[in-house]
Order: sequence, then structure tokens, then C-alpha cells
Amino acid sequence: MSLWEKYLRNRTKQEILLDRASSANHYSVWGMIVLVVLYVAATIALRTSSASEGVFFIGHSPIPYRSVTGAFSAVCNLCLILMIVLYKKPGYIVAVTLTIAQMPGIIVSMFHQRYTSISGFVTNVVIFITISVLYTFVSRSAKYLKKIRSQATTDRLTGLPNRFAVSELMRYLIQKKETFALVVIKFNNFDKVNNTMGQQAGDKALVQIANRLKSISEEGSSGTTDFAATRKGNDFLLIVREFSSEDQLRKTVDFYSDAMKKEFIIENCSFSLSTCIGYSTYPTDATEEETVFDYAYTAMNEAKKTDNTGFICRFSKDMLKDDNSVEIERQIRSALDKDEVHYQLQPQYDTSHKLRGFEALARIRDDKGKSISPVDFIPIAEKAGLVEKIDHNVLFAATKFVGDIVKKTKSDLVLSVNASVRHLLQNGFVDEIKSALKTSGLPANQLEVEITESIMIDSVEKALDCIKQISKLGVRIAIDDFGTGYSSLSYLNTFPADVIKVDRSFIINMNSSETSKQYVAAIIAIGHVMDFKVIAEGVEESDQVETLKNIGCDYIQGFYWGKPLEPEEAAKLV
Ligand code: C2E
Ligand code: MG
Ligand code: MG
Repeated sequence: MSLWEKYLRNRTKQEILLDRASSANHYSVWGMIVLVVLYVAATIALRTSSASEGVFFIGHSPIPYRSVTGAFSAVCNLCLILMIVLYKKPGYIVAVTLTIAQMPGIIVSMFHQRYTSISGFVTNVVIFITISVLYTFVSRSAKYLKKIRSQATTDRLTGLPNRFAVSELMRYLIQKKETFALVVIKFNNFDKVNNTMGQQAGDKALVQIANRLKSISEEGSSGTTDFAATRKGNDFLLIVREFSSEDQLRKTVDFYSDAMKKEFIIENCSFSLSTCIGYSTYPTDATEEETVFDYAYTAMNEAKKTDNTGFICRFSKDMLKDDNSVEIERQIRSALDKDEVHYQLQPQYDTSHKLRGFEALARIRDDKGKSISPVDFIPIAEKAGLVEKIDHNVLFAATKFVGDIVKKTKSDLVLSVNASVRHLLQNGFVDEIKSALKTSGLPANQLEVEITESIMIDSVEKALDCIKQISKLGVRIAIDDFGTGYSSLSYLNTFPADVIKVDRSFIINMNSSETSKQYVAAIIAIGHVMDFKVIAEGVEESDQVETLKNIGCDYIQGFYWGKPLEPEEAAKLV
């Protein structure tokens, strides 16, 4: 047992570990050894210089050795002060030992009638009194600090360390590069205890849970070295260390899970609680404290999703999909708040390569400035009720930009904007279109609204009315991603569409599969029968352009003739 552990022997393992993790006891035994060696060296130098009659030279000036005894004495005192201030009680014991150890020599020398030693005796007594007073003050302030620290790191109700303590310990372990697992234990039906037995009984149950966790971790009965803590309410945390394999870690988690399943007895009533447990590990899953924490919660939430009570989930990367959605939703909100939703314009050409117009495609960037694909953020924005705002921003910004170009150039280019069905079904959609046309000055027949075929079919009745209204304004309607939904001729017939956009998936296979080619040709033919224009999406190769020309496609949109461009770049094409 080290000196420190002896000193801390009356305390629980948890407290010892926390103390180590905090910066309060951060000074190593080596620091103490250095101070002792420095003290002994300065004392020897002090004695030697005070007894010497000689001189040394700095330049041409003679300096008596005796005159530097004050400097050595100052070094000795500094060492003693540092021992006490940095090492508290052990430092004081060492300082007192060093001071007293010199006394027998001084006393013997006094008995040999060397009265000069009297000053040495008095100095040592004064030092002894000074360091004792210093220690009293240092230990008193350390006690206050400890009390404040303990209040900041302990949960009042259960007496367990809190989230702050867990973070501190995790950072300490990460600094030492020590493998550990963070386990989150949540009780599913805890509200029932509060509701049926009252808040006080609930509190007692939490204390019992805490005691159970504490005694397992203190006894080490799980087979690993564990640290029990609480976060808030009925969320409990464990830091599991010193496991040799994933199996052993799982056994520890099972052990706690089983312990939590045992009955609790509160106010003569016995009841059981069920848990959801999730855990993640450092460094396998994550290398930063916050991430280890988040992943353990992700795993716990995954366990919660299963109907199986008492389920335990180990974190895996697959679980991040949902987390990713949360992150993307946050980024969408942030982009909307900062007015940073922007758009690019992808050119559309006729088959003779004459510019027809542009499709406005929404863009947002993540915190690092990387562009997030609308394929990822539009579905999340739809679920979060944010797609209307994105559509609105793109609609107003793009109509204004293209409206200005049209005013300047008098060109007849068409601007296509995508509209989500959610947005379309909103009461104010038609007014929004009117307002965008008015503020931008873009002629109605030069605006095209793209509606995705598959979604449109689901809400056709409700959507139809709205589409008819915007169509009456003169705005064009395009059916996007045509062919991917349940295309039905009857709905095409009733729909006031002007354009159909053949989905990229058919264009990709067109030249390798005769069926795909015939399929595209059939869509184009039907479109023409119904008096629609047809745009092929996702055209990437010259062969595809040739085939599309041959089968009568009207317009081409794709990387081959033009990738989505920043508006200023797109303007140069006009
Ligand atoms: P979309 O309306 O079918 O747009 C065409 C998508 O295909 C665009 O992807 C475009 O960049 C991409 N694309 C075009 N040509 C090629 C090509 O040759 N090869 C390949 N591999 N891709 C090509 P983007 O910009 O990622 O947009 C994806 C979808 O997100 C859009 O599909 C649209 O449904 C939706 N979206 C984009 N902007 C908005 C918006 O402002 N509002 C709403 N509601 N949805 C939007
Ligand atoms: Mg589109
Ligand atoms: Mg499309």
C-alpha cells in the first residue's frame, strides 16, 4: 500500500479514486522526494558555508561563503513550505521529521560548549512552530475545499457521486489511457413508485438502489473494479474498470442487472423494478469523455426501445443512425436560425443543348462547413416540420435571383423549385407562391413547382386542389422522380401537370438494358400523349444523351451537361 493509500485508508474506494481523479492530490511521491533531497542538500550547504572562513570570487570581487548562508536557509524554508502546501498531512509529517532530525546533533554540539549552536536550536524551534501554524491553516482551508468539492460532486439524496464526479473520473482514466466502460442504468417504471406510494417512498427506493450499487462496487463482488454514481432522477451510472474481455464486462453488467431485479422493500411493501441498461467503452467505442457518455445513453435508449424489460444493449455504430438524425435536425435548425440555408442551380437543356432553365436544389452545411446532402436532410426536415421553412427560403431566394436575371436578359428560362407535400398541404402555400412571384417579378409561367410522384399519390386528393390553384396562376407543375411511385394513368389524366421528370434510376440502366430503354421510351410516349414535356434526370454520359434524343425526350438534366452550380456561376450560363 502506498503512502497515499495508507493516508486515505479510512475512506471508501470510490472516494480514493475520486481524490486521485481530482487535481487536489495530483502531486506525485516523486515531487516529495525531490523536495526532501533539495532540503537535505540545502541544509548541508548551509552548515558547510556557515562554518567556512573562505571566500569565492564573482569577477574580481571576493564573496565570503558565510554571506550566502541566508540563500540556503531560504531554500530550506521554501522546501518545507512547499511540502505542507502541496502534500498537506504527509508533507507536514515529513517537514517535522526533517526539522526534528537535526535537533540531536544541535543539542550534542551545545553540550560540547559550542554556543553558536544555540542560534541553530532556536531557528529550528521557530521553524517547527511556523510549519505547525502553517499546517493548521493549510489543513483548515483544505477541509473547506474538500467540503465544497464533496458537495459539488455528491448527489444529496443518495450520497453517490454525481455526473460531475463521473466526468472527472472519466477524464482521469482517459488521461491515463486506461480502458473502462460506462454503464447507464435506467429504471422503466419508476414513476409508478412515486405515483402509487408517494414521493418520499420514491426517494427511499432511490437510496436503496444507490446502496445496492455502492455495496457491490465497494465489495468488488462483480469481479471487476467498479465506480457507482448517479446522474439525475433514476439514472444511475457505473464506471467499470479492469475487465479482461468483453465477456467479463458483460458478466459485470449482468451482475448489476440481476441485483437490480431483486425486490426492494419500502414501508413494508415489496416491489420490483425493471431496468434498461446500455453501455459503451473507452477506447473501443469512443476516445472522448462526452462521446463515451453519449454512446452509453444511445445504447440505453436502444434497450428502452425493445419491449423486453431488463434488456441490456452494448453500444454499436449502427445505433448512431438515429443520433445522426438528431444531429442533422440540429444543423437544419441552426442553418435556418442563421439564415444559412442556401441553394444551387442545376441547368436543364433541350436536346440541342439550349438552356431551358434551372432546378433550385437546397443546400446546408454542417458545423465544419461540409455540405449535407438534401437526400439526408430533407426527410429529417419533413419529420421535424422544418421542410416548409427550407422550401420557403429556397423559393424566395431562387425566384428573386432568377427573376433579376430574367428582368435583365428578357430570357424565357424556367426556374424549378421542389415542394414537399407537407408544404403543399399547408394553408398558405398558394399565397406563398403568389408572394414569391410578386416580390421577385418572375413571370408565373417561368416558375415550375416539382412534386415528387410517390408522395403525391398518398395525398392526391388534398394536394390536387392546391396544385390546381397554383396551376391557375400560370405556374408550371412537374412530377418529379416519375416512375418510382405507383404510376397510374388515371391520376396522370386528372393532374394539371406540364412536365414529367423521368427518375435517374431508369436513365442509368437505359443503355445496358433494352427493357429499361423501352420503359423510358414508353414514359416519354405516354407523356407526349398527355401533352406533357419530359425531362430526363441524372444524365451522366454522352450515350445516354444520344439515346434520349432518339426516343424523343424533350429536356436533359444531369452531370453530363451540368452539375448543380452556385447561383453566380449559373447566371453566367444564361
Ligand atoms: P430531385 O428533385 O430529383 O433532384 C435531383 C437530384 O439529382 C439532385 O440531388 C441532383 O444534384 C441530382 N443529380 C442531378 N443530375 C445528376 C447526375 O447526373 N448524377 C447524379 N448522381 N445525380 C444527379 P440533390 O441536390 O442531392 O437533391 C436530392 C433531392 O432532394 C432532390 O431530388 C429533391 O427531392 C430534394 N430536394 C432538393 N432541394 C429541395 C428543396 O428545396 N425542397 C425540397 N422539398 N426538396 C428538395
Ligand atoms: Mg426535383
Ligand atoms: Mg428527381
